[in-house]
Amino acid sequence: MIAILSDVHGNAAALESVLTAAAEAGAGKLWFLGDCVGYGARPNECAALLQAEAERAVCGNHDLAALGLIDISDFNSISRQGTLATRALLDAETRRWLESLEPLDAPMPDDEAALFHGSPRDPVWDYLVSPAAFEAAVDLCPNRLIFVGHSHLPFAVRYQPTSGRFTDLIKLDGDWLDIAAERWLINPGSVGQPRDGDSRAAFALFDEERLLLKHCRVEYDIERTQREIIEAGFPQGNAERLAEGR
Ligand code: ZN
Repeated sequence: MIAILSDVHGNAAALESVLTAAAEAGAGKLWFLGDCVGYGARPNECAALLQAEAERAVCGNHDLAALGLIDISDFNSISRQGTLATRALLDAETRRWLESLEPLDAPMPDDEAALFHGSPRDPVWDYLVSPAAFEAAVDLCPNRLIFVGHSHLPFAVRYQPTSGRFTDLIKLDGDWLDIAAERWLINPGSVGQPRDGDSRAAFALFDEERLLLKHCRVEYDIERTQREIIEAGFPQGNAERLAEGR
């Protein structure tokens, strides 16, 4: 069983709750889809936990921004302020680990699954949320299962090559989803800053033997996390949005 995590964003309390829940559910491996840092006050603890546990990992746009590897002039003012606050917190070990990651994980030839932060079209920036992006993803990536993060929106979209149709079959808080047939585009949602109106930390479990997928949610200490964010000099909005899941 593999725990699929994305968009942790320096939220160590959410990450710890997710890791505990994933272990209790029997996950023995972890795949990480990027954005370890940005928005949250404990980037180094998140990096240390993910570095220790992740079998496969990619970096996200916020990781690259914190490292100074991409231009942040296009970020809105809140993201920019969060990036500067994050840069002030990063330790050498976190920098080293983030610098070692690419925004896509080159799959092995026999791998069923490919990992991207954004999408196969643009692993750093593309939001895999539109039909055009879905089509580009299945055209550009030969792997049967495509896991992405970045939008912070959990989904599981099935692509049927015969009809060329995409069907969203997510079962939130629900049962296992059978992903043994056809091709799938999957986002586990965000650990550290959910944006689908549910404030609980999101992740997914992938049973790679039975080829089943489950989206999961878990509570964590939001109030403490909000205090830490404000104390560390991040924008107030970064704290407020956590309670609303937006
Ligand atoms: Zn993100």
